[in-house]
Amino acid sequence: MEGCIFCRIVTKEVQSKIAYEDEDVVAFHDINPQAPIHVLIVPRKHIPSLNEASEGEQILLGKMLLVAQKLAKELGVAESGYRLVLNTNRGAGQSIFHIHLHLLGGRLFHWPPG
Ligand code: 5GP
Ligand code: ZN
Repeated sequence: MEGCIFCRIVTKEVQSKIAYEDEDVVAFHDINPQAPIHVLIVPRKHIPSLNEASEGEQILLGKMLLVAQKLAKELGVAESGYRLVLNTNRGAGQSIFHIHLHLLGGRLFHWPPG
């Protein structure tokens, strides 16, 4: 989608540090990391937020979770623990309207989240 920074990262028009990619999903390190490990997992397809995802995207959404699992293992945080965050709309902190899953690890996380 024109003007979407994550679409431009997916097509490599905009440079990022890619951690994983396949035909459906791209994962790259967050530009402003909130933990020692902070990777964003995004579908190649532009879906603005979870609110716009549909049943046809069921496999894609599941794949994003399995990519997170794989990266957590590869990046060495699977055992210590990691947090997955999917902010939906502004009240939850979503600032980029191309659905993305945050994978955060490498430090202690508190509950409830801020
Ligand atoms: P949100 O607040 O929408 O859940 O998360 C958006 C995330 O995207 C933020 O953590 C922000 O640091 C990250 N981000 C925004 N622009 C860029 C960019 O151009 N490159 C990378 N790698 N991350 C970005
Ligand atoms: Zn997009």
